[in-house]
Amino acid sequence: PFEVLIVGGGPAGAAAAIYAARKGIRTGVAAERFGGQVLDTMDIENFVSVSRTEGPKFAAALEAHVKDYDVEIMNLQKAEKLIPAKTEGGYHEVVLENGATLKGRTVILSTGARWRQMGVPGEEEYRNKGVAYCPHCDGPLFKGKRVAVIGGGNSGVEAAIDLAGIVAHVTLIEFDSQLRADAVLQRKLASLPNVKIITSALTTKVDGNGERVTGLSYKDRNSGTEHDVELEGIFVQIGLVPNTEWLKDSIALSPRGEIEIDARGETSQPGIFAAGDCTTVPYKQIVIACGAGSTAALSAFDYLIRLPAA
Ligand code: FAD
Repeated sequence: PFEVLIVGGGPAGAAAAIYAARKGIRTGVAAERFGGQVLDTMDIENFVSVSRTEGPKFAAALEAHVKDYDVEIMNLQKAEKLIPAKTEGGYHEVVLENGATLKGRTVILSTGARWRQMGVPGEEEYRNKGVAYCPHCDGPLFKGKRVAVIGGGNSGVEAAIDLAGIVAHVTLIEFDSQLRADAVLQRKLASLPNVKIITSALTTKVDGNGERVTGLSYKDRNSGTEHDVELEGIFVQIGLVPNTEWLKDSIALSPRGEIEIDARGETSQPGIFAAGDCTTVPYKQIVIACGAGSTAALSAFDYLIRLPAA
């Protein structure tokens, strides 16, 4: 059994593992795919103190740093069920897909999230080649270019406002007949000269030249007509889905499925902590996930030293 059992091996889980192991306590990490979302990322230019790196390189560095310490890494292991301890200070159990059960006196959940995709032809092919999901990450790559934002909820409209200050032109495409973002955001968006808003539009395909995105096609849901828009980038903002489906019976989740945590990273269950994109933390970024993982590990240590001696 572990003193700290971490589920998820992205930036949050890796940071938690390093901070826990440095306390000299038995630490394990079970991850479906060690590295997490950064494995699917190309350029990373906002990890403070590193001007520029690439996702796979960053993931390899995370793993190497964790391996500097005595941490048991259990890669390619998917957790399916969390059984919180029945008594304070007892072991929590994590049941894996392969049937095995791991035990931890504390557990840190860092299973991350995934961007909801449009599911149209060209989206996968041109991912990182014009199709992007994170305006904070990739916005500057489109400086002076034309982009579309797909989705007119808060995140889509925020992305459009953000991008309008960087790129030449933004086309915002919303499926519904009206935007769903807060009124204040909609007013701000409407005031920008280089933004065009298209509602009742279903994106049907991402166009490209084999190397990069060159445009997109959408269908006007009122008239049924097809339209093409020439552009260099497409930001898909139709939802970030936390990987927490397996936790809904064991800990408190927000209406959006995010694990509810307090400022110390503790969940609704004593001794169970969470960090990174799977939680209610505002803003989903690598540097933020690393900070949150460190917070969760220090809080887990704090919890452990307060348990009555066995
Ligand atoms: P994740 O990285 O999602 O890691 C989750 C971990 O949990 C993985 O190991 C996963 O396999 C594992 N897992 C999930 N479910 C289970 C389960 N049931 N059992 C066991 N393990 C499980 N951020 C930036 O700061 N800068 C950027 O430039 C940037 N670019 C990005 C580009 C793309 C294309 C994407 C998708 C994201 C980008 N981000 C960027 C966001 C950044 O990657 C995330 O904020 C960060 O990875 C979150 O870290 P995390 O550890 O919380 O989760």
